[in-house]
Amino acid sequence: MGGVKVGGDAPISVQSMTIPHPSDVSGTVEQIHQLEKAGCELIRVAVPDQEAVAALPKIKSQMTVPLIADIHFDHRLALQAASVVDCVRINPGNIGPWWKTEEVIKAVNDNGIPLRIGVNGGSLEKPILDKYGYPTAEALAESALNAVHALEDVGFTNMKVSLKASDVHMAIDAYWLFAQQSNYPLHIGITEAGTAMTGAVKSAMGLGWLLSQGIGDTLRVSLAADPVEEVKVGFEILKSLELRHRGVNVIACPTCGRVEIDVVKMANELERRLAHITTPLTVSVLGCVVNGIGEGKEADIGIAGGQGSGILFKKGKLVHKIPSKDLIETLIEEVELMAKEKEAESAGVAVSELPYDGTSVDRPQLQPLSLESESAGSQKEIPVFPVRS
Ligand code: SF4
Repeated sequence: MGGVKVGGDAPISVQSMTIPHPSDVSGTVEQIHQLEKAGCELIRVAVPDQEAVAALPKIKSQMTVPLIADIHFDHRLALQAASVVDCVRINPGNIGPWWKTEEVIKAVNDNGIPLRIGVNGGSLEKPILDKYGYPTAEALAESALNAVHALEDVGFTNMKVSLKASDVHMAIDAYWLFAQQSNYPLHIGITEAGTAMTGAVKSAMGLGWLLSQGIGDTLRVSLAADPVEEVKVGFEILKSLELRHRGVNVIACPTCGRVEIDVVKMANELERRLAHITTPLTVSVLGCVVNGIGEGKEADIGIAGGQGSGILFKKGKLVHKIPSKDLIETLIEEVELMAKEKEAESAGVAVSELPYDGTSVDRPQLQPLSLESESAGSQKEIPVFPVRS
């Protein structure tokens, strides 16, 4: 899809969707740039009308990641969008009679782009709803399989599929049922998951289960929040399952009565100030040295608080003692340097040739530690897809 592989052994890609109406080209592009900066790998825009489809070329010319047009109801919008975008999404529940889908297939084929079949619990086609009475996982799976089989019957296979529901169990079961019967790449997501925290938890539960079973090729976390948050949560889910490694993973202790530093403030500051780093690094912030070093052993680098001073450790080994007031700046400086070294290593550049510009803070006098600790530890028209006999 526009250079991003989806399916097979390709990395699971993270996608999101813009909020402004596409006719607000500058607003849409501004958000696209924010999403690109956050690492978003595929960006979808809603294309609800002629104004939206007319804006697509201007939008597309100002972005670098692949663009997906999200079309409901009016297949003519898909026909127009197909010559501009990298993928078209249609919903079998509301696109109308089969001939309309055939026209869309021809358009995407003519332009060499894939199609996403996006089934949604809130917009199942009438025959499926009549059969099941209400949206169920089986109804979602049957709707998606009908669509896939109908497309295969006319020789079309360049597609990915989604079966979204806001109910976590229903979404999981629908994807699982589909995956038992079809091997097409899956776009996974829990639709209308909720606000930032609620939606992140629901998405992590649903997508986490699916991904742990090997189901899912690209994902979107749907949040009632800034879409940049969707990208962040998507990567956190993938990082948690060790499926993708991107950027700084900040681990922080929950703190307790032994805490010597403001862990919460420091962890948040680290996430904010290190967000630009794409090199995978695990950075740890621990409230004290009692269990701190042991708990931070998995981290590439980290700090643990002490009375009036803290320690900097790398891979579980104590490296320096640092006055508490300098802890955060020193850690940030060290992480920046470590990221540059890792980037240079992967680019085959000698570390000594590295320009070091992490000098925005007065580097405190680091005191080498003698302690070599090893740690302590509207259904508009009757559809739709002919059912394969
Ligand atoms: S690292 Fe120290 S402050 Fe943090 S939870 Fe463990 S014992 Fe408590």
